[in-house]
Amino acid sequence: MGVRILSIYKSDVPPVRDTRLHIGDSYDGNACDLVNCGRDGCLIQKGRSFWQAGACQMSLTLMMATTLEKAVIVMHAPGGCGALLFSLSVQASKGKGRRGKVPTAVPWLSTNLTEADVIGGGERKLRETIEYADREFRPEIIFVVVTCAPSIIGDDSEEVVRQVRQHVSADVVSLHCPGFRSRVVASAYDAFYHGLLRGLKIEPQPWIDYRPFSESDPKAELAKKKYLYEKSHTVNLWNATSMGPDDEEEVIRLLTALGLKVRFFAEYTSQEELRQIADAGLNVSLCNVHDDYILTYLKEQYGTPYIIAGMPIGFRHTRAWLVEIAKHFGLEKQANDLADYEEALAKEAIEPFIEQIKGKRVLIGGGVVRVGAEATALSELGLKIIGIRSFHYDNNAEPIFEDVAANLPDTPVSISNQSFEMIHQIKTLKPDLVVSHNGTQGYIAKLGVPSVQLFNVDGAFFAYKGLYQILRRIVFEFKNTSYRDRLSQHIKLPYKQSYFDGNAFKYIKD
Ligand code: SF4
Repeated sequence: MGVRILSIYKSDVPPVRDTRLHIGDSYDGNACDLVNCGRDGCLIQKGRSFWQAGACQMSLTLMMATTLEKAVIVMHAPGGCGALLFSLSVQASKGKGRRGKVPTAVPWLSTNLTEADVIGGGERKLRETIEYADREFRPEIIFVVVTCAPSIIGDDSEEVVRQVRQHVSADVVSLHCPGFRSRVVASAYDAFYHGLLRGLKIEPQPWIDYRPFSESDPKAELAKKKYLYEKSHTVNLWNATSMGPDDEEEVIRLLTALGLKVRFFAEYTSQEELRQIADAGLNVSLCNVHDDYILTYLKEQYGTPYIIAGMPIGFRHTRAWLVEIAKHFGLEKQANDLADYEEALAKEAIEPFIEQIKGKRVLIGGGVVRVGAEATALSELGLKIIGIRSFHYDNNAEPIFEDVAANLPDTPVSISNQSFEMIHQIKTLKPDLVVSHNGTQGYIAKLGVPSVQLFNVDGAFFAYKGLYQILRRIVFEFKNTSYRDRLSQHIKLPYKQSYFDGNAFKYIKD
């Protein structure tokens, strides 16, 4: 894998998950069969005879790129591809402000490819737009986002980037994320990291970031030992757009209590901060399907070990996550003691909520790691999980679904990013509560069913604080029924009643 990943990194365009991993986006069954189906390759064979909509990997790549400080986005695309940036820019600026950074909106430009450009090529426009962005905004980083149209017509965007790098002052980072290349949006993470590794410096630079040790200095040996000790106890945590500042604070609080120095990458960082990536003793992921591409690279290139141990959601997963990290430093006992202490406090805090939600029937939908972790966490608190819906599946999620298979073997599991299948499930399963991905709450409210978000960057979802907050939200949702009750009485759904007679997943085919 090591040699392979380094050669992958050298290529101009990153691989998509469809070729790098075993993936799937169409499945209906249970967790045990899903894991087996993912392993033996039958998952990739599955599709649908009808699709309502799909998602474009570019949107997730942009979500990450917009969070970087002093950056400009250049969309190499027709006008429409950048539409999402109007909202992403606001979201990223709010995230920067909440992390104590300057809450500036990210400037973005588009090469605005026309029909004539699609015939004659858009390379000149791309070069001029990058040069304009550098002159006008004086950014530290220019992200060049290469979309479907230039990829299909064969624009050599990489050659343009190579040439302009020689005379612009910003670091130019190309992000190849055309939607047509991948069926799973999670390819976006690899596209972003691929560009970052190739376009930016990720190791401290002598005389800029540090003064090299002088062998003639009598204090050099001691200073070197101190540096190496501090480096070995520095942990890089890898965030994602779904993780808010409250989540970051909660995991920093726990790892700091174990005596570790913790930093977050790569979202909400600057060019200068990114140069510290290689200067760490351990890389830790917070999501199995998010970071393996970059963490494998950092291990191969810099020898930095990494841990991918699920998400710290609920008591059991949080303890396992903490202990796995602590093991690396020989702090297993301290981590278990810390978990004992935190669990005792949290159990006391959530006690009033538990009685009010015990036995409620819950349908959970969203990202593959979160849904598995949240389902088992809520089940262990007495809620009844009647269905798990994941947007996609790839073999990085195997440990999560092995855990689901062991703990919720009879719970129906589907791989579906299709809204019509979710509506069907809600109408026919009649859950007491839906825990679902952001952006779906409107549909669910129209059905008059209580729902809470699976994540939300304005709250905590991780570890003890996160568990307390989601349970409090669930209780609140059951008590405040007015909005969804009234909305559902006045909305006509676009489905014929006969649609709900069949199986929700009748369009899935092998
Ligand atoms: S699928 Fe292609 S054309 Fe559509 S938004 Fe994504 S990059 Fe643009």
